[in-house]
Amino acid sequence: MNEIKHTDILIVGGGSAGVAAAVAASSRGQHVTLLERNSFLGGKATAAEVGTICGLYEYSRNPASTYIVKGFAREFAERLKERSGSCPLNNNEGLHYLPYQVEAFGEICNEYLAQKGVTVLLNATVENITIRSGIIETVSVAYDNSNIIFQVKAVVDCSGDSVISKAANMSVIKDTQYQAAAQVFSMQGVTEENEARLGMIMMKALRAGIEANEIPAYYDRVYIVQGSLKNGHVNLKLGIPVPVTYEKGNVEEIQRMASEFVQGVSDYLIQHVAAYKNAVISHIAPEAGIRIGERTMGTYLLTEDDVLNCRKFPDAIANGSWPVEIWEQDRRVKMHYFALDNCYQVPAGCLQAAAISNLYMAGRNISATRMAIASARVMGICLQTGFAAGCMAFAKAAGVPREDILEYLQNLQL
Ligand SMILES: Cc1cc2nc3c(=O)[nH]c(=O)nc-3n(C[C@H](O)[C@H](O)[C@H](O)COP(=O)(O)OP(=O)(O)OC[C@H]3O[C@@H](n4cnc5c(N)ncnc54)[C@H](O)[C@@H]3O)c2cc1C
Repeated sequence: MNEIKHTDILIVGGGSAGVAAAVAASSRGQHVTLLERNSFLGGKATAAEVGTICGLYEYSRNPASTYIVKGFAREFAERLKERSGSCPLNNNEGLHYLPYQVEAFGEICNEYLAQKGVTVLLNATVENITIRSGIIETVSVAYDNSNIIFQVKAVVDCSGDSVISKAANMSVIKDTQYQAAAQVFSMQGVTEENEARLGMIMMKALRAGIEANEIPAYYDRVYIVQGSLKNGHVNLKLGIPVPVTYEKGNVEEIQRMASEFVQGVSDYLIQHVAAYKNAVISHIAPEAGIRIGERTMGTYLLTEDDVLNCRKFPDAIANGSWPVEIWEQDRRVKMHYFALDNCYQVPAGCLQAAAISNLYMAGRNISATRMAIASARVMGICLQTGFAAGCMAFAKAAGVPREDILEYLQNLQL
């Protein structure tokens, strides 16, 4: 049965970008609906349990972590920090990040949306859209065994995968090679208390096992989620050795391999590393994390050159303070850095769809090349682009001039 409803602004996806977009769009009296395919909010932060927020702080060797983000991103980070009982960590390269509790992330998303009166539909997916003269008129949504047709003024695609552009049969930005997927899981009962030492012991044992042909070569793709070792509990992240292709069955194959890999690695650690002798798997994140999806072409395409040269833009809406971080199948993480104590900016053109005038994008869905999105996908930047896209959608729906909303955003976020 089809039900017709009106909402001024429709947000697709309830991850960090979608929640920020919904908060921004609903702050000025517009009716906002957020659709989320999962039964909970948070996106990769809660479904893949990635564990730390990057891109919130200045890229600097100064050991004090100084916010590079302002406005909603900073407010969200402060609330999360307090609720998680955590504090920022940094490494020798000058990278600063905030460990968080997964439950706290989800709770805070729920609280913000309830506070702002956003209508949230969980277990809801986009089925179809209608467009006339380059403007989205309706979005039909499968929800609770029914089909709701939303009449909309503006749409923000925060799905991480350009679901709106695909429903519109628009061409999207595809990569020839996607970053490797990863599965996070937890072990309880670990006896080593020093995280760096645990990492070294674990890696030594796994490499010895690989050399002795006892375990497959990809078993060296095991990482500790930084800041997670506490009271005998540690979160581990496994790089899944199945390339992301988005072909039919690929996501299922990644998930199947992830389960096998979790079991294999934990068995090996329990048998061969004294610190894991009495440990057990205590939790497995609901989904294997796929880092990059297909993006929508905007009126500007952010490039690696922009990122590495710390380019600034007259229509900037976000500060980017994270290097290009590449996780390929055959090697451990590779970073391309820009100058210390500097940052690049994300222009509004990356958030405005080129072909549809009332479609905006945010988060890991913005208009960016493969290398640029490898930086701009981190959550500190997703929170900023989400909030900005929500404001831009509000401006479109309420007839506010673009320059006015950009000025507001620049004062608030930069
Ligand atoms: C393994 C891994 C490790 C990472 N580590 C870090 C890290 O340490 N620090 C950091 O800052 N970032 C990290 N990232 C990146 C970061 O987590 C993501 O890029 C970021 O969370 C993306 O936020 P988003 O809101 O753009 O998208 P997502 O979080 O992916 O949210 C998109 C939401 O849209 C929903 N959705 C999708 N399709 C539909 C549909 N058709 N209808 C309705 N809803 C839909 C999804 O269910 C999802 O909830 C990591 C990512 C991965 C995968």
